[in-house]
Amino acid sequence: MKAAIIVKNAIRCKHCGDVIESKSVHDYIACSCGACAVDGGRHYLRRCGNPDDCEELSEYKEVEITPKYKVGDVVTFDYFGNVIKGTIQVIDTFPNSTIIECDILEPKEPRLYKHILESQIISKI
Ligand SMILES: [Zn+2]
Repeated sequence: MKAAIIVKNAIRCKHCGDVIESKSVHDYIACSCGACAVDGGRHYLRRCGNPDDCEELSEYKEVEITPKYKVGDVVTFDYFGNVIKGTIQVIDTFPNSTIIECDILEPKEPRLYKHILESQIISKI
C-alpha cells in the first residue's frame, strides 16, 4: 500500500514574493509583509492568512509500505496493558506518515477499537 508524506512545506506570498518554508513541527514562519505564514514542518501543512494570498509550493512523496497483517486477520493486541482479541476491519496509515494503524473489532462486547498501531499487535491467531 502507498502512503504520502510531506517532503516540503512551503508557499510563496503573492504580495511580497517571499518564499517561506516550515522545516519542523513548531517552525512558524511569516513572510516579510505579514500576509501569510506556514507552520507544521513535515508533520502537517498549517497556513495562516487568506489562501488567495499565497501560492502553494509544498511537495509530497509517495512511499510504498508493507503491512504485516491484512483485513480479516484475527489478532491479539495490547490496549493499555490489556490483551484483547479481535478481527482487523481496516488497515490505514496516519496522515503524512508511514505508521500503520488498524481498526479491530472485538466480537464479544462488541467493540471497535480504532487507531491501533501495528506495533501494539502481539500476534496473529
Ligand atoms: Zn508577504
